[in-house]
Amino acid sequence: MKKVSVECRDIRLSYGNTEVLKNINILIEPGEFFALLGPSGSGKSTLLRLIAGFNQHNAGQLLVDGKDISTIPPHRRNIGMVFQSYALWPHMTVWDNVAFGLVERKLPKAEIRERVEAALALVSLSTFARRRPNELSGGQQQRVALARTIVIEPQVLLLDEPLSNLDKKLRVQMRRELLSLQRRLGITTIFVTHDQEEAMTTADRMAVLDKGVVQQTGSPATLFDFPANRFVANFVGTMNVLEGAVRARNYSGVTLSVEGVGDLAIPVHDDIPEGDRLAASFRPHSVRIDAAGGNADAHYLWLPGVVEEREFLGEFVRYAVRVGEQRVTADQSHFAGLSQFQIGTPVALGLEPSQIRLLSA
Ligand code: ADP
Repeated sequence: MKKVSVECRDIRLSYGNTEVLKNINILIEPGEFFALLGPSGSGKSTLLRLIAGFNQHNAGQLLVDGKDISTIPPHRRNIGMVFQSYALWPHMTVWDNVAFGLVERKLPKAEIRERVEAALALVSLSTFARRRPNELSGGQQQRVALARTIVIEPQVLLLDEPLSNLDKKLRVQMRRELLSLQRRLGITTIFVTHDQEEAMTTADRMAVLDKGVVQQTGSPATLFDFPANRFVANFVGTMNVLEGAVRARNYSGVTLSVEGVGDLAIPVHDDIPEGDRLAASFRPHSVRIDAAGGNADAHYLWLPGVVEEREFLGEFVRYAVRVGEQRVTADQSHFAGLSQFQIGTPVALGLEPSQIRLLSA
């Protein structure tokens, strides 16, 4: 089947006087696994339902394969949607649930049989065809919902928080299955989630939404390494932010005066944002934590601090370190036998200059 692109162009949508989608521009490439990521209420489901045709935008264009489908009703869009609740028919068998859309389309019996068999095989449920939904686990019900949607061979697959009803372990397994299924079918897939780990592990690219505005679009690694603003920096992973007044700015970087910490000369070589105030941001795992007064490596920017909190997470230890009036999170990889810093210990935090991003304050 032909792989198609999905494009939102200047899309706006209001409920009454409240604009919940503000000038959305997103281009999803043919065959891409694309995530819409954002906190609750950011407009993800509204946008997904708009693509399905259940919501109508007030302005802008929605293009599939380059053609505006804004006025085409949902059932004629060739778009399949899997709902968070699965919405299976409880009184029907798995087989009948999956066959439903094909029966409705009045396809020949032999073709229905062939396609239902193929769809059930794809989601590894062939032996469950005679069961009813309440005789299946959450993960199996999810797979029936998927089979029921892909059996109609949509050009675009929409998934609304498809894994949120499953427990953690099953979620991890199902997201791998979902990705492998999507790869085999090659179908353009748009997936809504509020869980950044889910988006990062599955999506080719993603858009981060906040308050109905696309904050940034890109690959998971791009968004993690080069967040466009503080919202993305904090929503995708954990970020330390030291905000301060710009004291000096030249070709080799900026000097920030951070309240309660002092002047930080940050050698940054990528674009430095405009403004009198900026935020130096860096990930906890990029911070080196050493005993105070050790041999400080001149390559790092050193900040003196005191350990305030410590969390042991197995693979690493997460420290909250007081630095003047600020708090910095520093992760240290853990190995058997490696001693940990005690609460109250003076330490030196080393910031690796290449890992610091300057953001607008
Ligand atoms: P998300 O999926 O990111 O949690 P939604 O798209 O469900 O967010 O909602 C976006 C905003 O639109 C929220 O503020 C929500 O309260 C509002 N909203 C959603 N559906 C309706 C509706 N039918 N009528 C009025 N407001 C709505």
